[in-house]
Amino acid sequence: ILICFLINTINAQESLLVVGVATDETDGYKRYVRSLKQNGLEYEILGLGEEWKGGDIKRQAGGGHKVNLLINSLEKYKNDENKVILFTDSYDVIVNDNSEKILSKFKEFSSKIVFGAEGFCWPDETLVDSYPVVADNEKRFLNSGGFIGYASDIYELITREPIKDEDDDQLFYTKMFLNIPTREKFNIRLDTKSEIFQNLNGAVQEVSIFADENGKIELFNNVTKTVPSVVHGNGAAKLDLNRLGNYLANSYSNNDGCVSCKEDTIQLNEEDKNQWPEVTLAIFIEQPTPFLREFFQKITKLNYPKNKISVLIHNNEKYHNLEVEKFFTNHESSSYASIKYLTVTDDSSEQEARRSAVEECLKSDCKFLFSVDSTVHFDNSDALKLLIEQNRSILAPVMKRPGGSWSNVWGAVSSQGFYKRSDDYFDIIDGNILNVWNLPYVSEAFLIKGEVLKKIPVEFNDETMDPTIKFFTTIRNNDFFMYGTNLHEFGHLINPDGFNTSKIRPELFEIFNNFEDWTKRYVHPEYNDYASGKVKPQVPCPDVYWFPIISDEFCEDLITMMEDFGQWSGGRNNKEDSRIPGGYENVPTVDIHMTQVGYQQHWLHFLRKFVQPMQQKIFIGYYSDPPRADLNFVVRYRPDEQDHLTPHHDASMYTMNIALNIPDVDFQGGGVRFVRYDCSVTQTIKGWAMIHPGRLTHYHEGLKVKGGTRYIMVSFIDP
Ligand code: UDP
Repeated sequence: ILICFLINTINAQESLLVVGVATDETDGYKRYVRSLKQNGLEYEILGLGEEWKGGDIKRQAGGGHKVNLLINSLEKYKNDENKVILFTDSYDVIVNDNSEKILSKFKEFSSKIVFGAEGFCWPDETLVDSYPVVADNEKRFLNSGGFIGYASDIYELITREPIKDEDDDQLFYTKMFLNIPTREKFNIRLDTKSEIFQNLNGAVQEVSIFADENGKIELFNNVTKTVPSVVHGNGAAKLDLNRLGNYLANSYSNNDGCVSCKEDTIQLNEEDKNQWPEVTLAIFIEQPTPFLREFFQKITKLNYPKNKISVLIHNNEKYHNLEVEKFFTNHESSSYASIKYLTVTDDSSEQEARRSAVEECLKSDCKFLFSVDSTVHFDNSDALKLLIEQNRSILAPVMKRPGGSWSNVWGAVSSQGFYKRSDDYFDIIDGNILNVWNLPYVSEAFLIKGEVLKKIPVEFNDETMDPTIKFFTTIRNNDFFMYGTNLHEFGHLINPDGFNTSKIRPELFEIFNNFEDWTKRYVHPEYNDYASGKVKPQVPCPDVYWFPIISDEFCEDLITMMEDFGQWSGGRNNKEDSRIPGGYENVPTVDIHMTQVGYQQHWLHFLRKFVQPMQQKIFIGYYSDPPRADLNFVVRYRPDEQDHLTPHHDASMYTMNIALNIPDVDFQGGGVRFVRYDCSVTQTIKGWAMIHPGRLTHYHEGLKVKGGTRYIMVSFIDP
């Protein structure tokens, strides 16, 4: 009883002190300290502000400096037998447990000093056979990035022999461990099952995360079935630690969602925009990009005082000159603090332009550099404000190409330094888990603090990689963190692949690659009211249904495309029409077929997406998917050419006829008359479609155009 009492008293007096070394307050250091605070751990950081003398430990052995710092700091505890010291690296360590848990695990070892273990015998591989053999699923070799023991014992151990700052600390401790009398004297053990220390290098595949009953995210070692307390991204596992750090140490909790995302944020006062920080907004148009007009509109609409924004534009595409100039001459643009334009003729490369943006920002002592590629559409006008309020050193709004897997962030990096899919990639880009993510690469849109720009290496030139990849690779390799936030919907990315600027109206062709943007530009703004059933189509004649379908711009672009193509048919049926299967058009018009302008497939897609849903509401019970249509064409009526069309049936199940311009404005007369019902529609509406049965009931004629030019778009659907 007396012994038990004594043991309990000793236990009660034992306290844990975490000791870490950090000469600089790096992002990793900040993460480390946060993890200690989250777990209520008492800690001491050694070496802050000092010059690092432990050598280039990334590339070679070193780190003795850590030992010497530890010796100095432990002197005061050298006779303290109740103080338990948990010593760890700091830049690449996250602690995920409180002192009670850690101490109780330590006690289980019945050892005075426990070192973490790893699968590599480093830095001296010749020592492999000197190590005690362990079970297959355990780690055999000492890692010095984390150990735990009584202060008095550790002090005694590490002062046995001198170590130079530049010597290797791991070798220093390894030799002590392999010296059997020393090992036995201190009863040194290795944590071969990762009960306390999880060294990730070479073991990343062996761990996963899970939420405990309180929602706390824990690391699980699937091989030894342990839940380690100290996670160390040693060696090549730094990025894996960054990924795990998005969840560990209460960064994320299954009950509370993201926790760290709410820390260290700032608020911009809407009432006092004069106080909002200065931003250098750098816009990069490096490739032909569809929907650039809308891009600029969204930039202009950003909820941010323009007098706080200095704009720099790099335009590498002659095709886009006009659009960029429109942005400059737009009266709202005059409110920007400044605008600098690097045009195609300036002949500056993308690398140079990106570097200029950094220089501009530094020169003007800007608070933020906001780098935005022409593919970035900020549908949320608060995007910039929200990013600034998140207050991170380097932060990207997580955005994706709608409906696809392309985004502006990577969850992981391949060993060659390029994209690799992380397990949580889709959770991040689809917003299944909301967080401010520590990521290995961001692009297309990102915000960097001016003060951070002064510290990070700025490197864009590399023949083997894209300038932005080069930039962030260098930053990453220098241990700066970059984040992506999906806490808000910021907007979406444009897919510029295959954008063919040799077309006169290239965006018309973007129905496949950029469907949502295409829809916004080209579908009639009221179409959805009709498609959703909120508004019923008009019925100007029996079984003729009339509803808005395409925007004015589509009408105009279609006419432009056809007129530019210019090969209007003669409107006679006495000769072969090579465009038509069978070569004979019953009631020929002056027209151009969609096949002639390379738009057939696009138009069929349009029919399927927008016309078929309306047809199914109108002609109930008739279903054909996809709608088929061989003949899709724009017809031109004018007095000196073909001015009317005699009564006829169409070779279709149903016909769609869209008016492309305006009666009494663009032309006089015109319209359609359904003979059986003696019913005419003359006041056609630009962008509105009429659909009616083709073959039996709706014998119809095109009424005479008396002036101007009338254009209609006709489809014979399901012939
Ligand atoms: N360290 C430091 N300043 C430096 C470099 C390293 O304080 O300039 C400390 C810090 O605690 C860091 C540890 O040394 O975590 C080991 O460095 P690193 O994590 O890069 O090495 P690894 O764990 O990969 O051996």
